[in-house]
Amino acid sequence: MIPLFLFTIGKSVLNPPVLAESTHTYDVLHYYIRVDLPLDSRYLDAHVTIAAKSEVANLDSVTLHLVGFTVDSVLIDGTLASFSHPTGEVRIKLPSPQQVGDSFNIDIFYHGYATGSPYAGYVYFSAGGEVLHPIGYTMAEPYDARYWLACFDEPWDKAEYGCDLEVTVPDSFTVCANGILVSVADGEGRRTFHWKETHPIATYLIHFGASIYVRVPIYYHSLLIDNYVWPEDSAKAVKAFANLPHMFDLYDSLYGPYPFGDEKYGHDAVYPCAFGGMEHQTMTTLHRYYIVNGGDWVIAHELSHQWWGDMVTCIDWRDIWLNESFATYSDALFVEYMNGHQAFLDRMRERAKIYFREDSTYHRPIYDPPMDSLFNYAYTYCKASWVLHMLRYLGGDSLYYLGLRNYRDSLAYGNASTYDLCRIVSRIYGTDLTWFFNEWIFSPGHPEYDVDWGVYPEANRYRTRIRIAQVQTNSPIFHLPVEIRLRFDSGDTLIRFPIQDSVEIFEVITTKRPIGLEVDPNEWILNLADVEIGVAEEPSPKPVRIILPTICAGLITITADRATEVQILDPSGRVVDRIHLKPGKNCYRPRFSSGVYFLRKEATILKKFIYLDRSGPPQYTVP
Ligand SMILES: [Zn+2]
Repeated sequence: MIPLFLFTIGKSVLNPPVLAESTHTYDVLHYYIRVDLPLDSRYLDAHVTIAAKSEVANLDSVTLHLVGFTVDSVLIDGTLASFSHPTGEVRIKLPSPQQVGDSFNIDIFYHGYATGSPYAGYVYFSAGGEVLHPIGYTMAEPYDARYWLACFDEPWDKAEYGCDLEVTVPDSFTVCANGILVSVADGEGRRTFHWKETHPIATYLIHFGASIYVRVPIYYHSLLIDNYVWPEDSAKAVKAFANLPHMFDLYDSLYGPYPFGDEKYGHDAVYPCAFGGMEHQTMTTLHRYYIVNGGDWVIAHELSHQWWGDMVTCIDWRDIWLNESFATYSDALFVEYMNGHQAFLDRMRERAKIYFREDSTYHRPIYDPPMDSLFNYAYTYCKASWVLHMLRYLGGDSLYYLGLRNYRDSLAYGNASTYDLCRIVSRIYGTDLTWFFNEWIFSPGHPEYDVDWGVYPEANRYRTRIRIAQVQTNSPIFHLPVEIRLRFDSGDTLIRFPIQDSVEIFEVITTKRPIGLEVDPNEWILNLADVEIGVAEEPSPKPVRIILPTICAGLITITADRATEVQILDPSGRVVDRIHLKPGKNCYRPRFSSGVYFLRKEATILKKFIYLDRSGPPQYTVP
């Protein structure tokens, strides 16, 4: 989903959270949804068949979510069942108990006027003013599916076998929905559109849209991208969707093939709408504004949700950042793909500013936002996208994208939690990243670096002393390594420093005099930094960590008294190389970039060293 920034037509009211049952006694397998719409009001007439499986012994009742409506009858496997309809629920007594693994069908018939926010659940607007045609559509994230659909309305109970939607409307209307169009049947001035989604689907992603639509189909290779817009907008829609093939090119290459390639992708344009867009599975809903005026970033954002949100869905709303971080970072990556790295950095900076502004008045972790702050743009979108940017910084592109592909493959068409992402990326990075998620997802804030530095000439060389302090007062220390660029008359050197404490002091010995220093020059870390020249030589707040030999390049010579294996670790503890040493002198050519590294033998750190790929070789003796 993307919040809407351009309009003030009303704010969707987020419903109070309904906590997931501690034990969900049944598993939904499939929804067969039949709705009949007069399309002159929010009235609907529904018959929903839910295929479910018992998860417990002697299951004698089931509870569905449904807000409002008059429930006419409920059948279990064709037998009339008794039920009650207290607020928000339908409690059904099963005619005979179900055992673990037993499958059964629930048929529920209901009718009435949809209630709740006018922009959520089942939305209907008649024509008039800027509403060119009557329109009815569903909008359900997070807990609004129950305002039109009798269902088990939690993102973690996906219907494994998908859903069928048969939507009957006056025959001047066209209906689009999830999956593929199976049939269109006419009779007595009414038309029934049957759509079928075969992949697992969460209730908040089930969607139909009905209006006086024309189709503007385009193709990505053989994939149909089926777009439904008002007739007046068809030419504009062609323009608005012109870059979709580029978006597919980018996301296919980064994340693997489009997850619903055996069905379709598409959009329905809606107005009025309280949101910018919503990533309904295979059928994104877009605010009409983005058809009329264009909006690549929203279109890209929603497309990337098909991987992150729809194929891999947050397990519950505490983890909403998993959906939105990926989509937000993906739309920034699309900006880079089309307009270059500077445009990407501009977008990331703009989002950092939005977060810093919000953090100054509303300081909280990303994880488990209050329900009225679920779609807080500063946290759930901006800061969360920076978390992925930093995760990428930590592992580098090849590990980051390998991690994402593993995350996708392990959880495809299912659900994910922050713990899943941490576990999978840790395995790929070869180091436990719990600290990273603790600091950036489960804790509030960001590092504020105060960096002082000074250069001290010594015989034939320069000693540069760098003091990196974290001075934030309302969050703990962040352990992300910090990159510092030392500038010289000719050429620069980038060094990645490990951070363990609130104050870290490093000394770098060079043969040329550094003339400048930049903190995080490639803008990988969500931070505020203040850099000053002139660091106090004495007294020191703590023993200065002198790293010598600091300069090595080309070959490192390591002497061993017997055959052994040593490992090179980066500041995050990841093994970047293993070296098999022969007795005597070993010449080793590093395969990593400049930075701080550790030489480890078994569990013992033998040496911490800075590797600069432009200078002279050091020698080590391995005991
Ligand atoms: Zn989104």
